Amino acid sequence: APPVLAVVGRPNVGKSTLVNRIIGRREAVVEDTPGVTRDRVSYDAEWNGRLFRLVDTGGWELEARGLDRSVAEQAELAVQEADGVMLVVDAKVGPTSTDEQLVRVLRRVGRPVVLVANKVDDSGQAADVAALWSLGLGEPHPVSALHGRGSGDLLDAIVTML
Ligand code: GDP
Ligand code: MG
Repeated sequence: APPVLAVVGRPNVGKSTLVNRIIGRREAVVEDTPGVTRDRVSYDAEWNGRLFRLVDTGGWELEARGLDRSVAEQAELAVQEADGVMLVVDAKVGPTSTDEQLVRVLRRVGRPVVLVANKVDDSGQAADVAALWSLGLGEPHPVSALHGRGSGDLLDAIVTML
C-alpha cells in the first residue's frame, strides 16, 4: 500500500484547497464556511512517479465539544494512522494557539512533519513565512494552494519525507 500523508490544520487554513491542488482535480470539498462536512477524505496522489495517499482531516470541525479540543483529538487519530503529516498554517494569520496545540499533538505521536505556510499568494509575505519558524517544526514551505505557487517544492519535500 502507498504511504499515507495526513493533512492537518485549523479550519479554513486551506487544507482542502491544497488537497485539490495536489490531486489535480476539484474533488475535495472547499467552502468559505469553515467546518464543511463531506464523505470522502482519502485521495490517491502521485508526484515524480511516487504514489501516496492523502487524508484530508476536515469534516470533524463542527463537533460540539469545542473547536480546539476536537481539532486536536481528530488530528491525533488521523496522524496515528499516517506515515507522515502535512501541517497547514495560514501564513496571513500567523501561528495561533490552536496551531501550537496541534504541534504538541504531532510531537507526541512522533510522525515526520512538513510545515506548510499557505496563502502565500505573492512574494511580499516573507516576514509572514519567517514567523512560522516559531512553531518549532523547522522550515515552513510557502505555498498558495489557490494559485499553485510553491506546490512543486512542497511535493518534493513530501515524497522525500514519506
Ligand atoms: P480548510 O477548512 O482548511 O479545508 O480550508 P479550505 O480549503 O476550505 O479553504 C478555506 C478558504 O481559504 C477558502 O475560501 C479558500 O478559497 C481560501 N484559500 C485556500 N487556499 C488559499 C490560498 O492559497 N490563498 C488564499 N488567498 N486563499 C486561500
Ligand atoms: Mg476542508
